[in-house]
Amino acid sequence: MASVRVAVRVRPLSQREKDLSAKVIIQVDGHKTSVLNMKDNFHCMSGESCGESVKSFPYDFSYDSMDSTSPSFVTQEKIFTDLGTDVLQAAFEGYNACVFAYGQTGSGKSYTMMGNPVDDPIKILGRRTGRLQCVNEASILAACPFLWAFYFEIYNERVRDLLPSTETQGCELRVREHPKDGPYVEALSRHHVQSYTEVGQLMQEGNRRRATASTGMNHVSSRSHAIFTIHFIKAMFDADLPSETVSKVHLVDLAGSERANATQATGIRLKEGANINKSLVTLGIVISALADLSVGGGLKKKQNFVPYRDSVLTWLLKDSLGGNSKTIMIATISPADVNYSETLNTLRYASRAK
Ligand code: ADP
Repeated sequence: MASVRVAVRVRPLSQREKDLSAKVIIQVDGHKTSVLNMKDNFHCMSGESCGESVKSFPYDFSYDSMDSTSPSFVTQEKIFTDLGTDVLQAAFEGYNACVFAYGQTGSGKSYTMMGNPVDDPIKILGRRTGRLQCVNEASILAACPFLWAFYFEIYNERVRDLLPSTETQGCELRVREHPKDGPYVEALSRHHVQSYTEVGQLMQEGNRRRATASTGMNHVSSRSHAIFTIHFIKAMFDADLPSETVSKVHLVDLAGSERANATQATGIRLKEGANINKSLVTLGIVISALADLSVGGGLKKKQNFVPYRDSVLTWLLKDSLGGNSKTIMIATISPADVNYSETLNTLRYASRAK
């Protein structure tokens, strides 16, 4: 697997979009996602050339989930097979991985990453429910990993535990850098998990806290980046001495991309938008630098400039971006003409990450 993979997923029309009589302007064809340019389409209808009315972008994967009866409809199972399997495999083998969901609020980031709690608790990692339990994996794995789960959010470059202990409830946590192990969040609570059910429960608990605290702080969850991390700890013997390897999988539900473009905003919203913009731009630069490296097959001068420290998000994920780590970006979009500008922004962002 290449170390950076980019996928785009289009969700079905929402009720609101249907009520607005919105038109579908997205087409998925093989690896390509295309968007109909509404302005050009207007010209087309008035008899001019339609040649440039569609903008197409190739990705590693383009997923259509607009209409479950369409032959191009891609199931959640397929997305897991394409993306999640490799992530889990990498973690079991001792490598780190990051899965990012990028897109405008309401485009399907949480649905894709965390699932709809009502019908299916964890989408990306959770389809093979027995996998983490590792009960039937004993023949494949030398030893079952011990699993710790963490869940935190970054809002305005500040970190808050989404599964806090009584001591850290409501506290802002500090980001520190260990000389050997790299950046980490001080006093972040960790939770031993043994099954996907437990992972799902923690995600739901954290999501509830994210939403509730958001209201209290007069902001909504689309303004923060939520990072759910699982550490896979494998005990082993190295030269007859007990030792352990740690690999990390991060599921990152990014802040709504439209928040980064809040050009009309003032005061706290302006600062918030600027911080979101900075972290999303930095993430894009970091991922694209890593993609260049994987294509180039080695270290280039450019790597010296990978700007991890420019945002808390990229700084904290530094040891899971690059090197032997796996990076997956899933860009989620609405199919409706009313979201044309944000959809185009998302498609361009995802395209640059390649
Ligand atoms: P975001 O996290 O980007 O703000 P959500 O994941 O909350 O967006 O999705 C918004 C709504 O769209 C939710 O009601 C969700 O159930 C629905 N939805 C999103 N993606 C899909 C999909 N692929 N298939 C069906 N419904 C979806």
